Amino acid sequence: MSNLFNYTKEELEKYFLEIGEKKFRATQVYEWLYQKRVYDIDMFSNIKKEIREELKKQFNTDFISIVDRQDDLLTHKYLFKLKDNEYIEAVIMKHDYGVSICVSSEVGCNMGCAFCESGRLKKVRNLDVYEMVEQIILIEEDLKVRISSVVIMGIGEPLDNYDNVISFIKIINDAKALSIGARHITLSTCGIIPKIYELSKLPIQINLAISFHAPTDELRSKLMPVNKVYSITPLIQAIKDYLQVTSRRVTIEYVMLNNVNDSVMYANTLADLFKGMNIYVNLIPYNETNHLEFSRSSKKKINIFYDTLKKRGINVTVRKEFGSNIDAACGQLRGRKNI
Ligand code: SF4
Repeated sequence: MSNLFNYTKEELEKYFLEIGEKKFRATQVYEWLYQKRVYDIDMFSNIKKEIREELKKQFNTDFISIVDRQDDLLTHKYLFKLKDNEYIEAVIMKHDYGVSICVSSEVGCNMGCAFCESGRLKKVRNLDVYEMVEQIILIEEDLKVRISSVVIMGIGEPLDNYDNVISFIKIINDAKALSIGARHITLSTCGIIPKIYELSKLPIQINLAISFHAPTDELRSKLMPVNKVYSITPLIQAIKDYLQVTSRRVTIEYVMLNNVNDSVMYANTLADLFKGMNIYVNLIPYNETNHLEFSRSSKKKINIFYDTLKKRGINVTVRKEFGSNIDAACGQLRGRKNI
């Protein structure tokens, strides 16, 4: 038996056609689940009893569960327990323009980024589609808010769980489901090059963010082992090709690590790499943890790095800080609870 929240509308339409029904039944199911928020198949009153019985044989609407929530003024951090007793996290941030969520895509992560708390927890498995969708539904119901933007930047490398993440994006973007506009969906990857090419062909024009963090192969390979396989030169080419196909600006994420990647020399090297490209660099003050040896760059150093990029004609912002009081850096809640 499979979870109904795993299915895109097209997949459900196909299912209904296969059982000799009309495909609009898929829209009816979507309306119950996502608009009326009714999860008991017996209550789908505009669908004939025989079809509901058939649906119940094939599908369930089981939920993952919220086991912990930490609150700050503008941030809420959730810990979820999955059916197989694994744990994942999501973080909610309230902005003046709406409410955003950072969702996880895997249990643990195999990418091993040196500065990342989640990298210490090896990948156990991919998340199913429903486990990503339900992070949003459960939080919307818990906080009584509507989530208007989604960042796939929690635990896990989304392009390492490509098919499920793409189905998740199709579902949350669907007007009959959560109707989150493509421009409000951001996927963040550490740079799995072949999948970036695949993503460029996706008809839904989401935002792409690349976790870059170091402008030389030597340093990037130390911080992000993925660079030993997908190094800077082909990664920049992939970003250029992505820009050409999609005409969408790409975000370059750069976490500011004290005395590691925050010198003026590195700022200049970064500017050389991205000169003339339609990108913007997002400088992220590092959230320090108890476990890892890195520390956050000072405000002064971040400002100098910022100014250097700016003078070189690179669009740059410093990420507004959220949730450092409640362990909002990815993986930290899970680590703190010794799970
Ligand atoms: S930063 Fe992202 S890709 Fe790297 S180890 Fe952490 S969760 Fe994985």
